[in-house]
Amino acid sequence: MTKAAPAAFADTHQTETSPKVSDEVRKTTCYMCACRCGIDVHLRDGKIRYIEGNRDHPVNRGVLCAKGSAGIMQHYSPARLQKPLLRTGPRGAGEFREIEWEEALQIAVSWLEPLRESSPEKLAFFTGRDQSQSLTGWWAQQFGTPNYAAHGGFCSVNMATAGIYTIGGSFWEFGQPDWERTKYFMIFGVAEDHDSNPIKLGMSRLKERGAKIVGVNPVRTGYNAIADEWVGITPGTDGLFILSLIHELLRAGKVDVDYLLRYTNAAQLVIDAPGTAEHGLIARNNDGEMLVWDRHADREASYKSVSTGAALKGRFTLGDGRAAVPVFEHLARAYSDERYAPDAVAEETGVSADTIRRIAAELANAAFNEAIEIECSWTDWRGEEHDKFIGRPVSFHAMRGISAHSNGFQTCRALHVLQILLGSIDCPGGFRYKPPYPKPSYAHPKPHAGVTPDQPLGGPHLGYLHGPDDLLLDTEGRAKRIDKGFTWDAPMSAHGVLHMVISNAVAGDPYEIDTLFLFMANMSWNSSMNTRGVMKMLEAKRDDGEYRIPHIIYSDAYASEMVAYADLVLPDTTYLERHDAISLLDRPICEPDAVADAIRWPVVEPDREVRGFQSVLLDLGARLRLPGMVNQQGDPLYKDYADYLVNHQRKPGVGPLAGFRGAQGDRGGRGDPNPQQLQQYIDNGGYWTEHVPPNAAFFKMANQDYQDWAVAKGFYDAPEPCIFNLYLEPLRKFQLAAEGHGERQPPEHLRERVRDCFTPLPHWYPPFEGAGIDVSDYPYHAITQRPAAMYHSWGSQNAWLRQIHGDNPMYVPGPVCDAAGLVDGDWAWISSYHGKICVPVRRMHAVNDKTLWTWNAIGKRKGAWNLSPDAPEAKRGFLLNHLINELLPPKGDGQRYSNSDPITGQAAWYDLRVKIEKAEQPFEQSQPTFEVQQNPLPPAPDDVEYGKEWQK
Ligand code: SF4
Repeated sequence: MTKAAPAAFADTHQTETSPKVSDEVRKTTCYMCACRCGIDVHLRDGKIRYIEGNRDHPVNRGVLCAKGSAGIMQHYSPARLQKPLLRTGPRGAGEFREIEWEEALQIAVSWLEPLRESSPEKLAFFTGRDQSQSLTGWWAQQFGTPNYAAHGGFCSVNMATAGIYTIGGSFWEFGQPDWERTKYFMIFGVAEDHDSNPIKLGMSRLKERGAKIVGVNPVRTGYNAIADEWVGITPGTDGLFILSLIHELLRAGKVDVDYLLRYTNAAQLVIDAPGTAEHGLIARNNDGEMLVWDRHADREASYKSVSTGAALKGRFTLGDGRAAVPVFEHLARAYSDERYAPDAVAEETGVSADTIRRIAAELANAAFNEAIEIECSWTDWRGEEHDKFIGRPVSFHAMRGISAHSNGFQTCRALHVLQILLGSIDCPGGFRYKPPYPKPSYAHPKPHAGVTPDQPLGGPHLGYLHGPDDLLLDTEGRAKRIDKGFTWDAPMSAHGVLHMVISNAVAGDPYEIDTLFLFMANMSWNSSMNTRGVMKMLEAKRDDGEYRIPHIIYSDAYASEMVAYADLVLPDTTYLERHDAISLLDRPICEPDAVADAIRWPVVEPDREVRGFQSVLLDLGARLRLPGMVNQQGDPLYKDYADYLVNHQRKPGVGPLAGFRGAQGDRGGRGDPNPQQLQQYIDNGGYWTEHVPPNAAFFKMANQDYQDWAVAKGFYDAPEPCIFNLYLEPLRKFQLAAEGHGERQPPEHLRERVRDCFTPLPHWYPPFEGAGIDVSDYPYHAITQRPAAMYHSWGSQNAWLRQIHGDNPMYVPGPVCDAAGLVDGDWAWISSYHGKICVPVRRMHAVNDKTLWTWNAIGKRKGAWNLSPDAPEAKRGFLLNHLINELLPPKGDGQRYSNSDPITGQAAWYDLRVKIEKAEQPFEQSQPTFEVQQNPLPPAPDDVEYGKEWQK
């Protein structure tokens, strides 16, 4: 049956469907990357014959990328694990024996049970690109360990955290450009990732409508290659470029004053009392209400009582005698400074002053001269009534390229400040929130880490803190978490600090752990900095011969490099063999005009002794008698993950799936569990969606109609208007501590860093790695880009995708080639202060002239993924990770600092500095080399092709 596309996603450009190739079509959700497109899986004789896009699905509307269609080869991959494995040889050797599931689960319980009874923190449970974090996090919480996070800390936590603290949302899952109305679109630091099909669809709409696209990225590939204008910026200087655009907008008076007064803290008063413990904090009255200066009454007033009548400039004396200055006055002073003038930043950013001035003028022109209006009655959170939505048709998208730097948090904040000044957030033509966002930082939980043996943690592990008092430190000032998240090292590490877990655990700092439990996190290869060092750490032993991390449990569907370092391997299914929820409790797939979620379900049955990880986790939870996973008799509450998806309630009426709730399956958002829920999802094409009411569609941060609808749907328990934080007061609280105020003081070696980096208005500072070395020794930057056809290492064993990216040269700018005497096909040594690699070179001109780059995660360790040791990925492929240390260069003060953003702990992958030298002769093999990993699987066939014997 063909269903009409939902009105909001209607597309007039559909072509004829392909000829039928199957006996049956099953609709589920792709997991070849993190976009979660809807797919139609065609089956013939019980085998997968073909995968195509689901034309009704809100995420992709039928569009399928190379990865998605290659899901068939992912499913039939010879790298799939077959059965649970128990290590028999030394760690890293890859020697295992197959065991039954019962034995595997008993072993896991025998390791975990004593920990829960005595010291739950000795379990560290971390996951990779996990799409079930609302389950995995809850499981860890019920276990009682404070040591849980997913991969966000080494991915794009700067983007997410800066967004939540500033505007209650960020890009991708949180919101997207208004593709139908925007007239000027800037995309920062995105090659072809985060996200994929939705951005392709959006950009094609912009092209159809003639909107201008500006790509800001050191490398012109992917989206940047189809942009109307490419700005080949120098890595790590995006913040400087953005603040220079702001400088120009302020100079020209092109900011949306009405918007600033209504929706932001621009008018809030900042206490001006140098040397005191309240200098720089927002002034409040005795009721704790934030204050502004009422221009008409010429006196202080509470923020919520005055909107457009508040002062943005001046210096005022409050009733109690304190002096105070509006946020906007501080902002205007800071960014009008000549250090942000286009001529002052041009050399550092690699962007000419004329280009900066022109782009600022184009932004202003689109926002203010091409403004749009939509007639509609709506009411704001102050109770003021409006008869239209005013749109500033300028929008932005950004991701890892600007965030994976040690100045990434402030850079991401700067981009949001630019959006706010233009009045372009959640208006027609601007960036638009997707439900359940916006959600201000104070509406999120604070992080929890209080451990009590045999008891759950007091609340979620991850969250948003608001000052030094919320840090997760014990009475001696030591970190409570193994990754040192939410400490002075990384106070706002809302996604944890995964890249520090293994090194901290091996060093026993802040304490030793017993069991490292990892799910799809390839920590011994492409998901770690200092890859060789991490391999050694995983093999490291104490004096008594015991491994420094005594137990490692690993779950994955494939024989990645990490498998060889596990003691116990729990084989997961492929994404076509299990249930999953694309949940509003986790990382939603909504659209600005609709709330949506989706499922995966077993469209084929596993033909190996593998189990869905989420079901295994619930089984382990029941065996450990974790609260919420067993009933009063101690029997399992859930048969499997499917049962949990239907019957688990996080709070009354709210469960993992928001659709088809209630006894009749006719409730959306809140409602009782519905035994038919999964079948109703399947019948509806694998997803559920419901439209946002028209009068709630824009200005969601302040729109009472949206707030009320969101409460009805269960997104919030009470309305949560979101005031945009141009000035982020929690940062000022950390600075005050660094200035010596308050009980909780930073350690001396971090005091200066907190004082300098935690400015409540975003500012730009040079990335740490370059600041810690002599850059004349390492004059170039080196970064990776994610290709369109490979999602990190996931496609590495995929017979179709390997034909697109089997190896990865180092792309070198033409002038750098000339200076180093390099021509296409030469080999070159690339060195950082930490390491050295030798790799093949390709000349390229569409790249910033100080930047070398390569594709991400193509290189493989010999023997891993059931590939031949002579596979191109293992011979000519390589990782930049060998050049990157998880610690910064020594500063001579006896301390080593994490190679991370100082505010969030995000891994600063893109701060890497290198030099390049021609190799004497070509190599057969990229350097460094590692011993061939022994493979726990039967040998793969030489020729992997659909229909061959191995997959029957
Ligand atoms: S973008 Fe491609 S790989 Fe990613 S979910 Fe969509 S179809 Fe699958």
